[in-house]
Amino acid sequence: MTLSVTVWNEGIHEQENEETQEIYPDGIGETMAAFFAEAGYETRVVRMQDPEHGLTEQVLAETDVLVWWGHAAHDDVDDDIADRVVEAVWDGMGYIALHSSHHAKPFMRLVGTDCDEKFRVAEERQRIWVTDPGHPIANGLPEAIVIPESEMYGEPHNIPQPEATVFISWFEGGEVFRSGCCWRRQRGRIFYFAPGHETYPIFHHDQVQQILVNAVEWAQPVQGAVDVTYRHSPDPPEPL
Ligand code: ZN
Repeated sequence: MTLSVTVWNEGIHEQENEETQEIYPDGIGETMAAFFAEAGYETRVVRMQDPEHGLTEQVLAETDVLVWWGHAAHDDVDDDIADRVVEAVWDGMGYIALHSSHHAKPFMRLVGTDCDEKFRVAEERQRIWVTDPGHPIANGLPEAIVIPESEMYGEPHNIPQPEATVFISWFEGGEVFRSGCCWRRQRGRIFYFAPGHETYPIFHHDQVQQILVNAVEWAQPVQGAVDVTYRHSPDPPEPL
């Protein structure tokens, strides 16, 4: 079955920032959707400005993996829609949070911490080291990849201890950052990937695209156990 990927794009920098317009003339979300489509996924882009932020019950029901890029307006996301995303993840939808989206409402609600970190925009080199070479999100990657200019995100990062740390980044200024982290919440898989500042062509980078395609594969829903009861269960099961 073809996986269905929904890219949620905040859609503000494309309106206001000339650098972003030059780097992503089609939009950040559309750039991602193009390489997801090339990888064979059914893809759609929704924006914060769409009714219900583009995340209607129907869209979420049809989505296997939701990729979230936001940066400037996390607080403008409606609480009820954020909760709707959280519940969809609990039910098994994959969720990939990019760059500043560790501060997006659904991500923070899923992981349960404020996710604060150090940051600096100063055209610094970022070297992303693979720290878990056997992880599916590292499929096909060399041991390290380089982004020539990036925003520094540095430790400490107030996230709960990841269940897997696939990447750790080094920056020219000397800071390090857990830049590729995995969790599960109920049935859903969550991946946070740190690179992606809007004034650098990070989503045009071949290996970044490879990481995100790998992440979609990893985050896809799995069937898991069926017929699970959460209600009051007055009668004990038959003895084995
Ligand atoms: Zn940024």
